[in-house]
Amino acid sequence: MTVAKVTIKKGREKPIRNRHPWVFSGAVSSAVNAVDGRLVTVVDHKDRFLARGYWNSKSQIQVRILSWEDEAIDDAWWRRMFSRAWGARVQNQARAGLPDNQACRIVNAENDYMPGLVIDRYGDCFVLQAQTLFIDRNKDKIANILHLHFDARHVFERSDIDLRRQEGLDPTVGALIGGPPPDSLILNEGALYHVDIVRGHKTGFYLDQRRNRQKLHDLVQSCASDSPPSLLNLFSYSGGFAIAAQRGSNLRAVNVDSSRAALELAEKNFALNEYDKRSSGASAEHIQADCFDYLRYCVGEGARFDYVVLDPPKFAGQKRQVARAARGYKDLNLKAFRIVKEGGYLMTFSCSGAVSRDLFHKIVFAALADSGRQAQIVEQISAAPDHPVALTFPEGEYLKGLLLRVY
Ligand code: SAH
Repeated sequence: MTVAKVTIKKGREKPIRNRHPWVFSGAVSSAVNAVDGRLVTVVDHKDRFLARGYWNSKSQIQVRILSWEDEAIDDAWWRRMFSRAWGARVQNQARAGLPDNQACRIVNAENDYMPGLVIDRYGDCFVLQAQTLFIDRNKDKIANILHLHFDARHVFERSDIDLRRQEGLDPTVGALIGGPPPDSLILNEGALYHVDIVRGHKTGFYLDQRRNRQKLHDLVQSCASDSPPSLLNLFSYSGGFAIAAQRGSNLRAVNVDSSRAALELAEKNFALNEYDKRSSGASAEHIQADCFDYLRYCVGEGARFDYVVLDPPKFAGQKRQVARAARGYKDLNLKAFRIVKEGGYLMTFSCSGAVSRDLFHKIVFAALADSGRQAQIVEQISAAPDHPVALTFPEGEYLKGLLLRVY
């Protein structure tokens, strides 16, 4: 077999030695026998082994690294990597005190040293996302390993993401193993949620926000009073934060999202939890609106909420979008500060990979200054522990949030 070899320019090997998983085209001096979507060996200018990865000449990131050892990337390698990733989930989930491992991200791409591959599991139904050509070519093999060794009854593909276009791939959705996933999948996290694997966002649910929903629940519980508290859940999707916060409380929630389908799912979730049948006084409104407009309206009306959650979609995937994203975040946070009650809470997020935590803090700070309010950081928050971030891959920390007490 001919060896595919990629040689790195002199002086450009440091990030690879430091175990960053991406090699950009500018660092490559030559590629011999390299085929798009296939394995390559990466060497330095003196032909010394650096890493093993996969190649795609169409992508700006020409090599993504799978291993820094001179080892075979075969079925046994995948099995080892999945076992390691799964073992870490079991330990970390237990530490975080989450109810069970029924739903969780088991492979977080680059952060689990399996670049381009995301796997979420909902019980015995696994959802695979192939972000790159190499993973796309290997997805049937991966699905088979999950089926044979990790109790996957269904493996369903949700590779409907724009990122694939940079790899020369079209979005793809469909069953890999076990036919279509069950129609109605209900996730039990204390509160119950419908998960729509085929049509829902991401792989069916925003798993990354699980722990933060639990935090909001705990906060509402510890602040409980006779008069029903109010929550404005902006960019609510299926109502996740409101559903969690309402468990065991008399909270009045307002979910706002621009998507009718998302709000229908939120209504289904609310009904599933039967809050409406309790005498507690808990209630939920579902409003289809643009959140920028809705916030402006709330400010104009002088509305006030005990809790505001601000979880917008990704505004900046790339560096050149950061300035515009920053203006969007500032506008939202400024208005959000204005409508939090004295002593109330704002939980605010950015899931833009290109906006660093430091920059996000600065934006929220600027919004606070303009609002004339005061706020304390109660906690800095991030994605749940089943979404670990590789320390050598800062790009992996996409979700950052602040829990703020507002005066
Ligand atoms: N907080 C949610 C996830 C939010 S995802 C959870 O915990 O599950 C972002 C949501 O914002 C999506 O549901 C999308 O439909 C919605 N959205 C995007 N742009 C919007 C806008 N301008 N106004 C209102 N909703 C918007």
